[in-house]
Amino acid sequence: MLQQLIELELVPLIIGEDPFAVKRIREKLRHETEYHGWSGVTQFGISVIDIALWDLMGKVLGQPVHKILGSYTDRVPAYAMVGWLNHELDDLKKICTRAMECGFRAVKMKVGCPTLEEDVQRIEAVREAIGKNAHLMVDANQVFTTAEALIRGKVYQELDCYWFEEPFPTTNKEGLAELAQNLEMRIASGENEYGKWAFRELLEMRAVDVVQGDLRRTGGVTEIMEVAAIADAFNVPYASHGGGVVNLNLLAAMPNACYLETGLVSPGSSLQIKDGYALVPQGSGFSW
Ligand SMILES: [Mg+2]
Repeated sequence: MLQQLIELELVPLIIGEDPFAVKRIREKLRHETEYHGWSGVTQFGISVIDIALWDLMGKVLGQPVHKILGSYTDRVPAYAMVGWLNHELDDLKKICTRAMECGFRAVKMKVGCPTLEEDVQRIEAVREAIGKNAHLMVDANQVFTTAEALIRGKVYQELDCYWFEEPFPTTNKEGLAELAQNLEMRIASGENEYGKWAFRELLEMRAVDVVQGDLRRTGGVTEIMEVAAIADAFNVPYASHGGGVVNLNLLAAMPNACYLETGLVSPGSSLQIKDGYALVPQGSGFSW
């Protein structure tokens, strides 16, 4: 479906356009596909084209994309998303220990077990594996009611978790704002939001302490840089949803970048982790 949209609808619209005119192209694609709506698969297609255009600009200029965007740093704090709910306690501890051996100083785990006691047991196991100085993020993937998130959030906070991610479905922005007001710990969300307007709403509601854009849903490079700037104006940091060299290039050009999300790094991977930071690649384009 996405391939059809790209090949049959979007690509014909950009043939003959200047690849450096990414903002004009984005607006044109949005206008021409507005009947489908500015979210869902349409946004995915527009994002894919935008990402490809930024890579092309970098390659034509012989520069990394972060330099074209305006570089800020050559390294970005990175965490390993390793704690899936299907991991048994022993496996959970082993994989977290491995993450620390790979150079990470922060890990993220899923929460939202049937009982709070199970969540607590798993958080304590991860903390034991990573030590007291590492950051431990918890991610609920939209499973809680407002009341349940408040009850569990207070406990996660007591256990020194760094942020509480996506407690609710995106439709419960009021719940997110209520939670942010009632907890001292950071509330992180945004991976299921489409376009900068959704992030403006979250920020105006004071519903998030960390915004997390997804490359495809948010709208590609052009839109994500705008989201990060809007967040910066609210003094809110930006963290990527997902990893890879595209996200890393964008974070390297954001003064308010706080974390790159990634999985464990295997030997020979293009991603280098050192003392808790991902080193920003310096090849042209996205260093693909
Ligand atoms: Mg998440």
